[in-house]
This record gives sequence, structure tokens and C-alpha cells, in this order.
Amino acid sequence: MSYVDRVLDTLKTKNAHEPEFLQAATEVLESLRVVIDRDKKYEEVSLLERLVEPERVFMFRVPWVDDAGKVQVNRAFRVQFNSAIGPYKGGLRFHPSVNLSIIKFLGFEQIFKNSLTTLPIGGGKGGSDFDPKGKSDFEVMKFCQSFMTELGKYIGADTDVPAGDIGVGGREIGYLYGQYKRNTGLYEGVLTGKGLTFGGSLARTEATGYGLVYCVEEYLKSISDDYKGKTVSVSGSGNVAIFATEKVFQLGGKVVTMTDSNGYVYDSEGIDLDLIKEIKLVKRGRLSDYAKAKKNVKYVEVGKGKVWDVKVDIALPCATQNELDLNDAKELVKNGVKIVGEGANMPSTQEAADYLLEKKIAFFPGKASNAGGVATSALEMSQNSGRTSWTFEEVDGKLKNIMINIFHSIDGASKEYGLPGNYIAGANIAGFKKVADAMIAQGIV
Ligand code: NDP
Repeated sequence: MSYVDRVLDTLKTKNAHEPEFLQAATEVLESLRVVIDRDKKYEEVSLLERLVEPERVFMFRVPWVDDAGKVQVNRAFRVQFNSAIGPYKGGLRFHPSVNLSIIKFLGFEQIFKNSLTTLPIGGGKGGSDFDPKGKSDFEVMKFCQSFMTELGKYIGADTDVPAGDIGVGGREIGYLYGQYKRNTGLYEGVLTGKGLTFGGSLARTEATGYGLVYCVEEYLKSISDDYKGKTVSVSGSGNVAIFATEKVFQLGGKVVTMTDSNGYVYDSEGIDLDLIKEIKLVKRGRLSDYAKAKKNVKYVEVGKGKVWDVKVDIALPCATQNELDLNDAKELVKNGVKIVGEGANMPSTQEAADYLLEKKIAFFPGKASNAGGVATSALEMSQNSGRTSWTFEEVDGKLKNIMINIFHSIDGASKEYGLPGNYIAGANIAGFKKVADAMIAQGIV
């Protein structure tokens, strides 16, 4: 049995109750076969066994008092997965679905994503099963304060620097930062995605969505094409989805869909982004409100159809994991899709991704195409350390260069290992090599 197979076997036994983590780790190890089989140095130091085991995991309770005076208790996690190339870096997710498997999958992906940015950041992730939806600002603040009172013991500007993710935006980061400062007395870059008045970076809010679109743009350029006249479907209507949509419009494409957990809208004229921003970012409302506010918009409830049924040239899944399955992939291909770029983390199931590759669709895995967010977080860390702030154009320019480099790095790695056009393998290989070399150089730790 090969080294990779032996590690996969043990992984499945040890993590049988962590399906998302198994899915992510299996995908990575499978695509590393070409590297691992070629060079025995990895097996000699049990590198894969170490890679799939987090350096440490914290799990803690978060007690807080709701507006009715009742004590609520949530469960929270921080997974510090790998610090070979820099301090742990990765977001915090607040969503009722959060569990250890999901946080481990996200932390594992983050190792390779962060490596691809070429910046000195290790992999980590955290979160809680707290649901900010329907809570008052006070309740969200009280939760964040309690959460940070515990998390704050394990993080720091040079050790572990969390950021936002699903359910954690500027409001939550502000409350978390305030509590960290209050507890420690330190005014340091311990979180990214901060407000602009207290150390945040211009263009961080836009970075993940913009970066996704830049990555796909560079691919289009490589085949002498561009966004002009292309129809695009986007899922989600949160941070990543909104700014991916904005950049597609700026580059001449037309986004015709968005989703939330209740349904999707199809607007053949092109999504009215000002209206979406008003509903989602200001009123914290639902997409059904968009369909009520604008004429000729189709609204399809969850269970009555999927956003991937819509005919488009490019699909950008930007909501959550496993939202695009094999049937969806078949529907997209049947309708002539040419490119699928992941804005979310692992939004495509393994079967969907395999099918898209088989059908020669240009498929960009999230760990490459959504790396612009964490890259810009690292730029925020640099600005904080240097006690300085850069203009929007400076940060956006650096982000664009990073995404261009990521495209060429995954494209190059896929070709070097005889898998041209397989950007899943390209991203895993390119991300892995730097981390693995750093781990080997640092000894058995
Ligand atoms: P937001 O919370 O801003 O938005 C999430 C969007 O996805 C919302 O429209 C939400 O709908 C929808 N959604 C979330 N969970 C589900 C679900 N289980 N089923 C259906 N719809 C769902 O999050 P972000 O935009 O920040 O993150 C989106 C994705 O991008 C995630 O996978 C995240 O890990 C990834 N990502 C984010 C980065 C960032 O910088 N923010 C960086 C890199 C990756 P509803 O409002 O109804 O819940």
C-alpha cells in the first residue's frame, strides 16, 4: 500500500465523525500523490501524518445573557492547524452549523491557501454555533465579549490573528477587538477586517470577492478573452458575493443571480447592486425583499429549484460548503458554463469538482481563487506593524498582483506535474511544497 493510502486509511479511522474535514483532507492528499510518490523525503519524516493533525485545538463554552435576561450558552472552537510559515491566520465563523469538523476542514484548507499568497501566514480557523441572525446589536456584542474573553488567551499579533467569515463582519470584529483591548491592554493587530478608524485596511472588505474575479480574469487573459458580454451566476449575498458581483460589473460582465439560505433571485437585466447592498448590508434583510422591490425579478424558494439551473458562462459559488453538487455541475455543463470559480470555501462537492474537471471546465478551487481575502488581511497586518496605512489603490494593486501570481503558480504546478488545466492539483501542490519544506527544515515538531 502506498504512503498516501496508508495515511488516508488512518485518517478515515481517526476522523470518522468529521465528514467535512475528511472531504477536504482526502482531496488534498489524493492530488499530492504525484509529488509524494516522486520524493521519499516526505515519508521519511512522516510529513503527511503531521500535516493532517492540528498543532492544537481549543474548544470552549461561551455564556452570555440575552435581552430577556436569560443565560445562553454556545460552543466555540479555535483550531491552530499549522504555523510552519507564519502565525496562524484564518477567520471566525458564527453560524448554527459550526462544529469541529467544519472548523478543521476550514483550518486545513487555510494552510495551503495562505501558502499560495506567498505571504508569511500559517493556517488556523475558529468559530461558534452562535447565530447572529435575529439577534439585537446588544446581544451580538455580549456574545462577542464573552467569546473574546476566552479566545483572547490563545491569540496575539505574532501568534494567531483571526478575521471574519460567515456571520462575522465589521460589526462583530469591532466588538471582538474592543474586548481584546480591554482584557489585555494591547492595541495591536490581533484581528484583521477591523474598522478603518482603528487599524483596518482599505480594500479588505472588497478583497475576497475582487480577488476571485481577478483570478478568473487572469485565466481569461491567458486564453485571450475577458469578462465583456459574459453572463455570470453568483450564489450567496454576503461579503464575498457582493464584492465579486461589483467587480464583475466593473469589468464588463453581467451578474444575474444571488442567493441566501431561503432562496435565489434571477434578474435578467443584471443584479441591482445598490439595492442588494441596501437590503443586505444596511437593513440585514432577505433576498425575497429584492424581488418585492424590483420588477421582472424571479424569486425561487429553497427546495423549488437551484441557482445552478440558470444558463450562464461563468458560475461563482460564494455562499457555503457543498452548495454545488454533481447534479448542479451537470446542469451547469448542459447549459454551456465555461468557468466555475469558487468564492466560498469548498462550495463544490468532490463529485461535482471531478465532473467539472472531466468536462474540461476551467475550475478554480477556493483555496486559490478566494485567497485574496486572507492576502489582504496579511497586508493589514503589515500596515499595523509598520504603524501606517496604504491607499485603496495601493492595496487593490497589491491584491491584484497576488491573484495574478496565484493563477500562474497553480497553472505552472499543474503543468509541471503533467496535469495541465487541473487547478485543484495545481493549488494543492503549489501550496503544499512551501509548507512541507518549511516543516522539514524546522525538524520534527
Ligand atoms: P457572509 O456571512 O457575509 O455571507 C454568507 C452568505 O452565504 C449569505 O448570503 C448566507 O445566507 C449564505 N449562506 C451561509 N450559510 C448558508 C447555508 N448553510 N445555506 C445557504 N446559504 C448560506 O459570509 P462571507 O461572504 O464572508 O463568506 C461566504 C463564503 O466565503 C464562506 O464559505 C467563507 O468561508 C468564504 N470566505 C470568506 C472570506 C471573507 O473574507 N469573508 C475569505 C475567504 C473565504 P443567509 O444570510 O441566509 O445566511
